[in-house]
Amino acid sequence: MSRICPKCKSKDISPDLSAQSYARGSIFNQFKCNACGYTGEFFPEVEE
Ligand SMILES: [Zn+2]
Repeated sequence: MSRICPKCKSKDISPDLSAQSYARGSIFNQFKCNACGYTGEFFPEVEE
């Protein structure tokens, strides 16, 4: 299983460790797409 960006379908995803997500308490379920810069909590998991 791997996460993909819901916007551009890229698999280049990292946990979003920004201060903003830390402040919101969502540091463990917030992700960022390194390809298009999209951030959000709902990155779908897909089969490899
Ligand atoms: Zn993306």
